[in-house]
Amino acid sequence: MADGRAVPANELAIVPEGMIADLLTREASFAAVEKVFAAMASGDACNFPVVREALGHEDALYGFKGGFDRVGGVLGLKAGGYWPHNLERRGIINHQSTVFLFDPDTGRVRAMVGGNLLTALRTAAASSVSIRHLARADARVLGMVGAGHQAKFQLRAALETHRFEKVIGWNYHPEMLPCLAAVAGEMGVEFEAVELAGLRAADVIITITSSFAASLMADHVSPGTHLACMGTDTKGKQEVEAALLGRATVFCDEVAQSVSIGEAQHAVAAGLLAAGDIVQIGAVINGTHPGRTSAEEITLFDGTGVGLQDLAVAASIVETAVSRGLATIVPL
Ligand code: NAD
Repeated sequence: MADGRAVPANELAIVPEGMIADLLTREASFAAVEKVFAAMASGDACNFPVVREALGHEDALYGFKGGFDRVGGVLGLKAGGYWPHNLERRGIINHQSTVFLFDPDTGRVRAMVGGNLLTALRTAAASSVSIRHLARADARVLGMVGAGHQAKFQLRAALETHRFEKVIGWNYHPEMLPCLAAVAGEMGVEFEAVELAGLRAADVIITITSSFAASLMADHVSPGTHLACMGTDTKGKQEVEAALLGRATVFCDEVAQSVSIGEAQHAVAAGLLAAGDIVQIGAVINGTHPGRTSAEEITLFDGTGVGLQDLAVAASIVETAVSRGLATIVPL
């Protein structure tokens, strides 16, 4: 993984949003996220408490996600949030964020990196890492629940990670499903819109909605399925029935977030799951947990999104930008 020290000590590297698409490959994003999940599980990297505040201005939510990876030498934070009127009033996207990296030896700022596309790619990398480590090797049908902004990135990354033969999809707003069909088509994979019960045909299911009530019920999921639940990142949101988590082996990025703002919050509140039952996926990556142990087991990854994902991917972007001479370098 990129070292946070790629920029000379007396300089600041700036990599603006418009450059990220050319600098960040899916492989680099996957590698950075996989490595930092492993570092979290071995205690070499930690996330700091998340700050999220209503600004009382423009109806915006603003906050910080930070952390420190002492092995990777990456220290920093992502600052940003959600400005609901951006698109209608200014023609720019509602989610806005920027990553700042600091020298862990001195505290001096090292880099400033556009965080919008980065967020979608690091979120997609997290579900892909879970598919690589927890799905059955013979998984052939990918199910999608959700067809919004993130869903397209999730689908593309999953199809690039594992050889799926078919994609089936359900969305609360079915008129949005053609965007998934388009991504599948670009990747040469058949797409079919299904009812929720049709998802029983899936070997892997990604959920990525902003729902506050379960759509996917335990009865909609077949034995042996791997689920990556990626949409629930706030208290009160819910995508899948809590009973499903009671029946599955549950993995997550970080347990504290999983039980408080992730999909597991509901199963824990209902007494169907305890925090101690949830396994950090980094333990599977490190080989200290076996992961899936049978072809019938249902595995479920609760991906809540942690600051260290953002920092790891940002550090990788900075390293690439600096090595190619594409970063704007400012003396401190
Ligand atoms: P979006 O607004 O583009 O899409 C929202 C999706 O949710 C659509 O598919 C929509 O049809 C569906 N939906 C809306 N209301 C629903 C309901 N009542 N029941 C079922 N489905 C419903 O949003 P997005 O940018 O794609 O983000 C999706 C979710 O992912 C959000 O909750 C967001 O906060 C979360 N997210 C998580 C991470 C992470 O790291 N885990 C990162 C980024 C975003």
